[in-house]
Amino acid sequence: MALLSLPEYEVLATQAHGHLCAGQILGLRMALHGVSLLGLEDPAGADRKRLVTFVEIDRCATDAISVVTGCRLGKRALKFRDFGKMAATFCDLREHRAVRVVARESAKQTAREMYPEIQDRNRQQMKAYREMPPERLFDVQWVEVEIGPDELPGTRKPAVLCEQCGEGVNFGRQVQREGRTLCRSCAGESYYRQR
Ligand SMILES: [Zn+2]
Ligand SMILES: [Zn+2]
Repeated sequence: MALLSLPEYEVLATQAHGHLCAGQILGLRMALHGVSLLGLEDPAGADRKRLVTFVEIDRCATDAISVVTGCRLGKRALKFRDFGKMAATFCDLREHRAVRVVARESAKQTAREMYPEIQDRNRQQMKAYREMPPERLFDVQWVEVEIGPDELPGTRKPAVLCEQCGEGVNFGRQVQREGRTLCRSCAGESYYRQR
């Protein structure tokens, strides 16, 4: 399917995310802006193998970005970098170019100025974010993104066993510590503790 209209994406985003909100509208528009700057006409279909998206936040907008781009974590085409920023970088693997789109902090204030009569912030921002021209909503940077072979969608490689816990480690995520091959958890990067 080629690119849809914003209202059509809003329906899909509501289904995917469970509700529609200002963050979703912002995410949809961010992704639409990104793919259009890259010149991709069918990101979730014919062009799906060309696109990898890095998101810098895990909020409502992130799911909306998936709806437009078709990039999902489980396809290795969506990369999460937890920087806490309302931003995403859209990478065209075929043309080797990437564009980072950041929501401007001033967008909320702009929404207030556009629709001071709407009290509800979410409704105010939803309406404004649908209508604002991209240059008022976003800042844009053309950037270079190094995507290694182990980062690409479709990489296949046998898992390596961690010498400490015995669990399999995929995609070259094992590390060497004093001559031993370990998973990142056993190497001290764990996010959990054994009880
Ligand atoms: Zn939401
Ligand atoms: Zn281990």
